[in-house]
Amino acid sequence: MRILITAGPTREAIDPVRYISNRSSGKMGYSIAQAAVAKGHQVVLISGPVKITPPAGVEFVDVETAREMFEAVKSAIKQCDAAVFCAAVSDYRVAQVATEKIKKTADELTLTLEKTEDILGSCRSTFGFTGILMGFAAETQNVEQNARAKLSSKGCDFLVANDVSRTDIGFDQDRNEVTVYGADGSYKTLPIQEKRAIGETLIQFLENAECNR
Ligand code: C5P
Repeated sequence: MRILITAGPTREAIDPVRYISNRSSGKMGYSIAQAAVAKGHQVVLISGPVKITPPAGVEFVDVETAREMFEAVKSAIKQCDAAVFCAAVSDYRVAQVATEKIKKTADELTLTLEKTEDILGSCRSTFGFTGILMGFAAETQNVEQNARAKLSSKGCDFLVANDVSRTDIGFDQDRNEVTVYGADGSYKTLPIQEKRAIGETLIQFLENAECNR
């Protein structure tokens, strides 16, 4: 299969030296990419800024902002059989990026934010993608309810949910515990384990779905 994977955070500029981002390390997405290459799949890895090296053998696309990630996905997804959206995309960007560094003058500073492109949510409608679609949901509450809502609203075949309120797993950790919800109503919890092992199992989900098409 040819598999597109998004990973890492995005960075949205406030001014030439500051930005809005999040704590995503990219480890989960890179582990999935590594597992996919090891199983002989072609991988397009579209990544925001992270500190880890892309696995050997992937086609690597380096992006910074949500808009750049949207454009990169748009141009790559049509040639792919499956897509895994692991990136922690910023939901908002600063509406008016300052061209000069913002000076510390007023006691209060208000930034107006606008929504970024919903990349996963654009796959079915805007990009016309008909392949296997796997989304992620990083939740701090009502994990199952939010995961199932995202699964159907974004047209996913699978939605992988993790509880990011836990400090022992998830963001910037080597291990994770996730539950994979299927569009057929099924679900499976993958108990706490190395992200690499989770990556291998998630690739199996894609392979089985491809076989059952
Ligand atoms: O951040 P959230 O939990 O809502 O993300 C759900 C899914 O949507 C993830 O798979 C994420 O990669 C994707 N996403 C996206 N574009 C956005 C926001 C989220 O592709 N602007």
